[in-house]
Amino acid sequence: MSETEFLVVGAGLSGLRTAMALSSAGHDFLLLEGRRRLGGRVLSCDATGSDTQGRGLAGYDLGPTWVWQGQPRVAALFRELGIETFQQYRPGDLVFEEHPDRVQRFPGLALQGESLRVVGGIGRVVSALAERIPDQRIRTGVTVTAVTRQPSGLQVTVRDSQMRDSEIRAATVLITSPPRLAVKTILFDPALPEGVEMRMAGTPTWMAGHAKVLAIYRERFWASVGCSGEAISRVGPLAEIHDASPRDGGPYALFGFVGVPADQRRAMGRQQLQVAAVDQLQRLFGAGLSNPERLLVKDWSDDDMTATEHDRVPPHGHPEYGYPADLLSQWDGRLMLSGSETAYGSGGLIEGALESSEVTLARLGFGPARH
Ligand SMILES: Cc1cc2nc3c(=O)[nH]c(=O)nc-3n(C[C@H](O)[C@H](O)[C@H](O)COP(=O)(O)OP(=O)(O)OC[C@H]3O[C@@H](n4cnc5c(N)ncnc54)[C@H](O)[C@@H]3O)c2cc1C
Repeated sequence: MSETEFLVVGAGLSGLRTAMALSSAGHDFLLLEGRRRLGGRVLSCDATGSDTQGRGLAGYDLGPTWVWQGQPRVAALFRELGIETFQQYRPGDLVFEEHPDRVQRFPGLALQGESLRVVGGIGRVVSALAERIPDQRIRTGVTVTAVTRQPSGLQVTVRDSQMRDSEIRAATVLITSPPRLAVKTILFDPALPEGVEMRMAGTPTWMAGHAKVLAIYRERFWASVGCSGEAISRVGPLAEIHDASPRDGGPYALFGFVGVPADQRRAMGRQQLQVAAVDQLQRLFGAGLSNPERLLVKDWSDDDMTATEHDRVPPHGHPEYGYPADLLSQWDGRLMLSGSETAYGSGGLIEGALESSEVTLARLGFGPARH
């Protein structure tokens, strides 16, 4: 049985940030990730739709897209990793579709005008973090299924892609997977206190119920008709649309948040959604949009490494996240809960993922936590 001092569950931004800090402090640790790729909800692809993990020049974001000024941890990390940002594309009109026959244009209005995107796609952050963690410390394609407290430490059961189980012994386990998913999929023995389990099960995973459509084009056709690519629609299937092009030239892209609820999306099927999305893009921005070079759909509600069935109906508005200190630390500090949904300041967001890592590290004795 292998042994480690710290076992980090989940290689999203929170787990990667924590692992990078453990690595630079010279600690013995393992970072375990259930998916075959790193990044969790951060997912960037190239123009063919292949996962680039931010390694290509043109990255299109299928998970998060934006960071914002005034996010201190994002700013500090991007400085440290040499990540460049650029402003969300905004020249041109905003389009509002109230009815299929009623499309209005609003010159100079922008929904996300001040939002920042990452040059090369936000997956760049994932690859830059991973470069600072030794390969032998990371295992992908292994899912943690149980954590058992024993007198001598914690025993962690992991399942590989061939459904083979093995055990790892750890002094401390840091759970960075979304709390609702963790309490559903990991068996904690002894069971966590009922109040803790209830809190975890009741914490919606931010954006887990959503889906994105990404349409890639040779030209920025919407700009040639005077539009920024931003649109709000009460007709759908896309409820909110934005330019998703790389900073430096094409292929150009639009992405839209699908406004159709998860259960209805499942019932209508992928192809019907794609056809309806292209119809809508044509309605809003003209015939140039009729034939995308590539049309990608990422439905996070169908991804069992992010969403549970309770995430299929997203919360109204942004929930009040943030776990009190006594809840973050279980089993006398041997088991710690982390991840964006545990953070107070920007819970659910990238900044929150970094905040949760900072708080976890502070509790382990690596530097002060800011709130
Ligand atoms: C469509 C979409 C749009 C978004 N837009 C934005 C945005 O514009 N700006 C913003 O700030 N945020 C946005 N977010 C939220 C942002 O992506 C998250 O806040 C952030 O990525 C969370 O990081 P995390 O490490 O806390 O969690 P995650 O990224 O969820 O990482 C958890 C990791 O744990 C792994 N895992 C789960 N269970 C197990 C297990 N049992 N064993 C091993 N591994 C496991 C998962 O595979 C995953 O890699 C968006 C999210 C989505 C889905």
